[in-house]
Amino acid sequence: MTHDAAVLKAREIASRVLAPSAGQNDKAGRFSTEAVQWLGESGLLGLLLPAELGAGLGPRTFAVVTATLAEADASVAMVYLMHILGTATISAAPPSAAQALTPILQEIAAGRHLSTLAFSEAGSRSHFWAPLSRAHRNGDGVRISAKKSWVTSAGHAQSYVVSALAPEGTGPTDSTLYLLPAGTPGLSVAGPWDGLGLRGNASAPVVLDDCEVPSDFQLTDDGAGFPAMLNVVLPLFNLGTAAVALGLCRAAVSETTSHLKSAKFEHLGQGLGESLPTLRAQLAAMQIETDGLSARIDDLIDHLEKPRETTMLRVLETKAAAGDVAISVTSTAMRVCGGSAFSKHLSIERLFRDAHAGAVMAPTGDVLREFIAKSLLGMPLF
Ligand SMILES: Cc1cc2nc3c(=O)[nH]c(=O)nc-3n(C[C@H](O)[C@H](O)[C@H](O)COP(=O)(O)OP(=O)(O)OC[C@H]3O[C@@H](n4cnc5c(N)ncnc54)[C@H](O)[C@@H]3O)c2cc1C
Repeated sequence: MTHDAAVLKAREIASRVLAPSAGQNDKAGRFSTEAVQWLGESGLLGLLLPAELGAGLGPRTFAVVTATLAEADASVAMVYLMHILGTATISAAPPSAAQALTPILQEIAAGRHLSTLAFSEAGSRSHFWAPLSRAHRNGDGVRISAKKSWVTSAGHAQSYVVSALAPEGTGPTDSTLYLLPAGTPGLSVAGPWDGLGLRGNASAPVVLDDCEVPSDFQLTDDGAGFPAMLNVVLPLFNLGTAAVALGLCRAAVSETTSHLKSAKFEHLGQGLGESLPTLRAQLAAMQIETDGLSARIDDLIDHLEKPRETTMLRVLETKAAAGDVAISVTSTAMRVCGGSAFSKHLSIERLFRDAHAGAVMAPTGDVLREFIAKSLLGMPLF
């Protein structure tokens, strides 16, 4: 698959499948299984898998596809993003696990397998790098009990990439990553998902009750979960959440523009945008912020394609900035569109609610700013 073909498929799915049902799914808090099916049939679930298995594409295409999906339905874009991260982690497992994992990667490439990440725990909250759960030796494999607090696609994914402290780990970040198929005995969804935003992405809690994990479903060496989180997951997660933010901003600009064109002051014989310079100025500010975020994402992609000394700094900065921009642009859209937005006659209020997830998702915007400033000051990050 080429970059252009992948983007075209994403556009088709966004306009035919996502856009018509995003509002209803948001209202009902409904997970779109049909969106996942379309993403699978189009080959987009295997986007980053190497060419011998999947589409063989990279971060540039991933960002455009994710932003395109988010412009129509950010819940589905987040499901897609978490799947891509799960897949990247499975794909990065040591060659010793290839015999067990290759059939799963083949299922992903064939569009029949959705994966996700289950890192965050009730006890360590947004500090996902410090799981409280610990894997315990069980013959060649391990047993894990854990309370995973938010897992996107919970109950819909075919597999979960799970973190737990390594059996002999001594420090708080000495974790290992494992793959748990959805049918693993002891794995269950522990509650509903009724979020403020991203209501269609089933980010419910998941409990692991003494789950058995065979050795060939271990995705990292013992204690090497943390470096995998930093090197495999973090760059793509931060890029992907920034792309979701960009899609939300673009949707907000587009809907605000059409509202300012179509809504009228009939007593003045003028459209809203035609009549009020203050609304035009705010629309322009939204556009400037959106294009600024787009340029920032392009810069991050360039850093990921050609890694250099500043790459990790860009990874941290881009998600922190994207969370703020998405909240700012959608908040302005709420104000500009006034009562029409507030009374839910437009999709702006869904965009506004969805936009608040990015900054909360770990690493949160606050934590990223802490990391950036600490690294500038030469202080240890953990
Ligand atoms: C829609 C959605 C989907 C999610 N999907 C997944 C998923 O698929 N997998 C997964 O593993 N997790 C997922 N999460 C969990 C997410 O990544 C966070 O772990 C969780 O939202 C943080 O919860 P909390 O507010 O209780 O964290 P808390 O740690 O209680 O944070 C509270 C506040 O304190 C701030 N804070 C915390 N630590 C610091 C610090 N060191 N410096 C400065 N400020 C700090 C935070 O920024 C926040 O404002 C999801 C969350 C949401 C909302």
